[in-house]
Amino acid sequence: KPVVAIVGRPNVGKSTLFNRLAGNRIAIVEDRPGVTRDRIYASSEWLTHQFHIIDTGGIEVGSEDEILFRIREQAELAIAEANAIIFVADGKEGVTPADQEVAQILFRSRKPVALAVNKVDNPDQINNIYSFYELGLGEPFAISAEHGTGIGDLLDQVMADIPEDFEETE
Ligand code: GDP
Repeated sequence: KPVVAIVGRPNVGKSTLFNRLAGNRIAIVEDRPGVTRDRIYASSEWLTHQFHIIDTGGIEVGSEDEILFRIREQAELAIAEANAIIFVADGKEGVTPADQEVAQILFRSRKPVALAVNKVDNPDQINNIYSFYELGLGEPFAISAEHGTGIGDLLDQVMADIPEDFEETE
């Protein structure tokens, strides 16, 4: 099954999205030596597609530099392990320098990336998403991980971007 990784700054709603996608299926916490952050894996499905989902999040503490270091590390991990990446940003906050930096890393990796602009809870907040085009990752998908809106369109994009002959990672 293809692996889809969720990446993004702290507090953008990665875990909320993960939990929504994982439903009530069992999530396994892998705690590997040498890896500074836990990853949570779950099985998920969308229509006829079955996939594994990884939440690369976790509690992030420390200085801005430390947090930036961790997000970069998270992006590298996703690039190494995933067949597709969901990059989550915060529609209430708008584009931040950390978003721009991670977008660059993801873009250069040439892995399929879907850009989810989260916390767009109401239709009248849709204008919040336009500034996210500047990240250069294509069309931003407005979602509300909390309310469960916009997720279908996002997953359609993710699944369409995964090559048929994706390489099995573990
Ligand atoms: P993570 O650190 O990226 O994993 O973010 P979390 O999933 O822990 O969410 C961070 C905060 O954002 C929490 O207070 C969530 O309740 C809130 N949040 C997550 N998704 C949404 C959303 O769709 N809309 C709004 N308004 N808040 C959200």
